[in-house]
Amino acid sequence: MSEVILKVKDLKQHYKIDQGWLKQDSVVKAVDGIDFQVMKGETFSIVGESGCGKSTTGRTILRLNEPTSGEIIFEGQDITKLSYEEMRRLRRKMQMIFQDPYASLNPKKTIRQILLEPLRVHNLFTPKERLEKVIEILEIVGLSEYHIDRYPHEFSGGQRQRIGIAKAAILNPELIIADEPVSALDVSIQSQVINLLLKLQKELALTYIFISHDLGVVRHISDRVAVMYLGSIVEVSKTEDLYDNPLHPYTQALLSAVPIDHPDEVKERVILKGDVPNAVNPPMGCTFHPRCPVAMDICSKVQPIPTVHDGNHSVSCHLYN
Ligand code: SF4
Repeated sequence: MSEVILKVKDLKQHYKIDQGWLKQDSVVKAVDGIDFQVMKGETFSIVGESGCGKSTTGRTILRLNEPTSGEIIFEGQDITKLSYEEMRRLRRKMQMIFQDPYASLNPKKTIRQILLEPLRVHNLFTPKERLEKVIEILEIVGLSEYHIDRYPHEFSGGQRQRIGIAKAAILNPELIIADEPVSALDVSIQSQVINLLLKLQKELALTYIFISHDLGVVRHISDRVAVMYLGSIVEVSKTEDLYDNPLHPYTQALLSAVPIDHPDEVKERVILKGDVPNAVNPPMGCTFHPRCPVAMDICSKVQPIPTVHDGNHSVSCHLYN
């Protein structure tokens, strides 16, 4: 049985919006009390539409945004309690890959400077060893020493994301949170970067939290998947169970839009009515009820709690209570 590397308990990320002196401040519940755990060595994906809170979840786990409340237990330690300095040291073990590789790389620094920096900040190795490490990681991500004195703008989007991955992996972390790491790339490049992530996971024994809106990519890379809607996790399951037997009506609608693999397969598209409601004033009861094609009376009154089906498949929906 694999060991739990990360446990997230009742995590909330609420933002106050100043409405001016005449009105009361509003609160956006970007993440509203989520629970999940990640096993060592797995890829745990978080999916959902834009604005569902998945990227905020990733940033909050790394405390790039301070959580409003809840626990983030990494390797047995609640990291919400750590000081700034303790957290800075811990970031060696927890790294992030960003969606836009160009924005995450300093345009004024060469690749040598960009990749040496984390080793220097964490005071690792001698100067000679650091350079060897940089050349080694460049080769692992499919670049070479030849590229070391170039600037980010001299690379293609795919190469820049390889550098972003090298920057995250050079510290040999335990956990990498990859936030939409391929969505800014051409489709032809996406699979190369995904294959690189899979290769690195094997070679460096990495654990990934993979954040994406692309259910096709998520199916390919994940061991387990959590589906988020309006700041809450509505379903969590092993990847094959989720894709073969989605339980939550929102997951069913999302999956109905994924292109099918086989020409003989027929799939009925579920079109959701309306837009995602405002997180400042989420609907009562099940927050999905205004858009749910099978909503019942109880759904607008009572918030469903997660229930577990067939071992490990968890869903928050009154249809299964
Ligand atoms: Fe639909 Fe009700 Fe289930 Fe929410 S609880 S997803 S509204 S059936």
